[in-house]
Amino acid sequence: MSVIAGSEVITAADGTKTLITYVIEGNERYKISQNFKEINVLERVDPVVDARKKWAKYGAEANSPPGPGYDTTNPGENVTFILSKNWRELTEIEEANRLKKNPKVYISCRACSQNHYTFKCPTLNKNASQN
Ligand SMILES: [Zn+2]
Repeated sequence: MSVIAGSEVITAADGTKTLITYVIEGNERYKISQNFKEINVLERVDPVVDARKKWAKYGAEANSPPGPGYDTTNPGENVTFILSKNWRELTEIEEANRLKKNPKVYISCRACSQNHYTFKCPTLNKNASQN
């Protein structure tokens, strides 16, 4: 998977931004659009960390403004963080729903090659508890 240079950022009236990136994987060309909103949050920062943000950029980014350049920096993938007492059941329900939607994409355990994550492997956990 290689990212084609020339991503574009579209800013909507409500402040939401859409980052459109083009990616080539094999012979297919994909358009990935990621929606995000920048929110200003007041926080106390270590003065050393703050000073580091004012360092001059160098190399290909030497003349770019402060902050991330969307040609060279991409936001990461969405990670859902569940704050709940029953997060285990919620993640299992979410995983079951995902499998219902797209049964072809499945996970495979590295220990027993069954349809679960390796860290959830019952055979590995059985071996670990015996030691
Ligand atoms: Zn397993």
